[in-house]
Amino acid sequence: MIEQKTKRLFGTNGVRGVIGDSMTPHLAMKIGMALASERGPVIALGRDTRTSGPALSSAVSAGVLACGADVVDLGVLPTPALQYIVKNHFDAGAVVTASHNPPEYNGVKIIEGDGTEMDDTGVITLEERIFNEDFDIQTWETVGNYWEAPEMLREYCVAVAEAFPGLHAGNIIVAVDPGSGPACATTPDILSHLGCRVHTINGTMDGTFPGRLPEPSPEGLKALSQLVVDTGAAFGVAHDGDADRAVFIDEKGNFIEENEEFALMQRFICKNNPGGTIVTPVSTSFLAEKIAAETNSKVVYTEVGSIYVARRMLSLAADGVKVTFGGEGNGGIIFPFHQHCRDGGMTAAAMVALLAAENKPLSELVASLPSHYMVKEKIHTKNAATILDHARKIFSKEMLDETDGIRINREDAWALLRPSGTEPFMRLYVEAAEESDARKFADEILSAIDPVLQAP
Ligand code: MG
Repeated sequence: MIEQKTKRLFGTNGVRGVIGDSMTPHLAMKIGMALASERGPVIALGRDTRTSGPALSSAVSAGVLACGADVVDLGVLPTPALQYIVKNHFDAGAVVTASHNPPEYNGVKIIEGDGTEMDDTGVITLEERIFNEDFDIQTWETVGNYWEAPEMLREYCVAVAEAFPGLHAGNIIVAVDPGSGPACATTPDILSHLGCRVHTINGTMDGTFPGRLPEPSPEGLKALSQLVVDTGAAFGVAHDGDADRAVFIDEKGNFIEENEEFALMQRFICKNNPGGTIVTPVSTSFLAEKIAAETNSKVVYTEVGSIYVARRMLSLAADGVKVTFGGEGNGGIIFPFHQHCRDGGMTAAAMVALLAAENKPLSELVASLPSHYMVKEKIHTKNAATILDHARKIFSKEMLDETDGIRINREDAWALLRPSGTEPFMRLYVEAAEESDARKFADEILSAIDPVLQAP
């Protein structure tokens, strides 16, 4: 976590900013130059559907080529598709995306040769090159070659469609909302391949996002809910702006909370492969532990951020641990038998496999989950460190987990107090089986930290 503080450009999900303000082609080119100075010889490039995508992508490409690495431009595709293709064929990758952020944002995410996002150490090295303008500029004889390979996207679609051998959806109806993003080219195709009858909304790529914002929020998905009901679909699925996340609507048109989605997927995967380890951040619902207990599995917690989850899954597996499932309670799910990153298209395919195996309506499966209620509060403060110190003292007799912020674990309840990495606020998550208990626990923490919160 000391490393995180020294990052100046990159957040947990790459560099992001508003176009024409903090995010410019000039910066994108420098990222490309730094990347090719560190990695190569062949770097894959991709982008989401944002209007600024071609400008930034060309700039990253110019930087990479100028510093001697070759560029294979995969065009518009989901981040997990690029990750899958990099893992199989290339030395590194860069994807121009701002994920769930509004249309005015864009950014660059760096992918390592194993398909995972670049870690803090790698990112800090890139930043040093950028700030010191320390680039391996090449001459005419050694600049990189550029070619386009949009057809490689098919390899990802086939891999996802074949990830559950023998699966045939039996003509179930599915409603898909790719949100005008890159999954327009993948998820409907994957689901059709599996034998689903697919209806699509916001299914044309469009960087102005005319139908809904890139964040797949319950409010933004009202039209998808309606489509599910109108078409008699078994479920609806929607993605964020780069389709590494997937969220679901049940057959009655109700949005499925993402921690419940995680729990359903976990139950499905671990039932078929019990006795393994699940990796998820400390902010995930205790449903993860309850489901783990059903399947003789255990939960390992990480800092908040999918990259920490992915890297822990890989390091545990390298130590011989049987890691069966992972991801975040925000629709970002990792299937380690497929690849070690969140994958929205794969999550959509997994839902088809889950329903085919369970043979029950999705709403019924959601209702079968253990009772739980999560309170989420945003606390505005510039004194996060003082507040954490204070909380640590007050709750010192309890079971504390300091993986990321402070998590207080109680019998059938937990609370997490965690500073935002980039902005002057903290998040408080509290979960209990019943709403009243969760609220009471949250109030207890809020009143405990109140004296420090009020201090100047
Ligand atoms: Mg995303």
